Amino acid sequence: MVVAMDITFLGTSSAQPSSTRNHQAMALRVNGDIWLFDCGEATQHQFQKSALKMGRITKIFITHMHGDHCFGLAPLLCSMTDNLNPDNASPSDAESPIEIYGPARLRHWLRTTLSSTYSHLGRCYRVHELLGVDEVEEDASLERHPQELPGINHRLDPVATVSLGNKYTLTAASIQHSIPSLGFIIQEPPVPGNLDTRTIMPHLDRNAAALHAQGIKQPKSLLGRLQRTGQPIELPDGTWLHPPAHKPGRQVVILGDTCDPSSLVPYCTSPHLLVHEATNALTSLDEPDLTVEKVEERARQHGHSTPQMAGAFAHRIAAKTLILTHFSARYKGDRSDEATKVMEEIRQLALQPFGKDKDLYCARDLWTFDIKHR
Ligand SMILES: [Zn+2]
Ligand SMILES: [Zn+2]
Repeated sequence: MVVAMDITFLGTSSAQPSSTRNHQAMALRVNGDIWLFDCGEATQHQFQKSALKMGRITKIFITHMHGDHCFGLAPLLCSMTDNLNPDNASPSDAESPIEIYGPARLRHWLRTTLSSTYSHLGRCYRVHELLGVDEVEEDASLERHPQELPGINHRLDPVATVSLGNKYTLTAASIQHSIPSLGFIIQEPPVPGNLDTRTIMPHLDRNAAALHAQGIKQPKSLLGRLQRTGQPIELPDGTWLHPPAHKPGRQVVILGDTCDPSSLVPYCTSPHLLVHEATNALTSLDEPDLTVEKVEERARQHGHSTPQMAGAFAHRIAAKTLILTHFSARYKGDRSDEATKVMEEIRQLALQPFGKDKDLYCARDLWTFDIKHR
């Protein structure tokens, strides 16, 4: 069965939020569940402005420990597990812990924040840390928060692949930034391909009378059975109908802040979606003596990317769609003429290396993108 998958950008700013861009957060919706990527300050406010329900969050992934990516996590956990809120988890969900994945220090920071503020959660949680080769594991004897269950540490060597249930996997790798930062690949399992009804229908028509005699009044119903069960079917005249071959599932690549995510290249297989930061850009808002080279140098010094760097990476991994995010507060995120003009300039900068006719967007807060099989 093909499941619905979309991504809502809850926050798209870099270091400073603005009245039109909140701090970083993305809600990837997979068959109704929400997997949240990053949780900047006031992410719970963004949920309230969207059609998404916080209570549907089952997994949270933090790319790195800069505050614009994680300061909203503790208050979000408090609100989303508040049993008095009717939008929150059903009693059966309350049995399963919220699974949180992220870099070293995340577990300790979250525990300290929740414990120091005497915060009580209505559900349990656990933090699974993705540790770089040289990063030290936390002392397991430290006292946990009352709602904290022990998490698992995964070593990035050079990547870690973790099962997310229902055959979905997460592959994480360290990517280059000013502090440890993670890039994530979410891989959907293979899905059934499309039935070739033009070839199948003549066989069904030829066998219609015999099928009817067997009690199958609607021969077309066998199409649904083929797709649903994936099992071949023998028709009365001895013809075998075969289910369609499986096709690869969707691959979604979501990067933390970075100036170089090339460690992920060997694991990308023409992803359906790449979400890449584009913090620094040269646009018509800049002084005329500023150059592309200077902007890129400044971006790299702070571990960030330009739209051109993001577009080049999307080209390198043959991404089907690129969405840029993590913009400077200078670039408004509303639908004003000024914002539309400068965001189109940024889009065009990334298109140069990505490819002229490629699918490329600049994210806005509360915008949803449907991730389709292609
Ligand atoms: Zn950031
Ligand atoms: Zn950062």
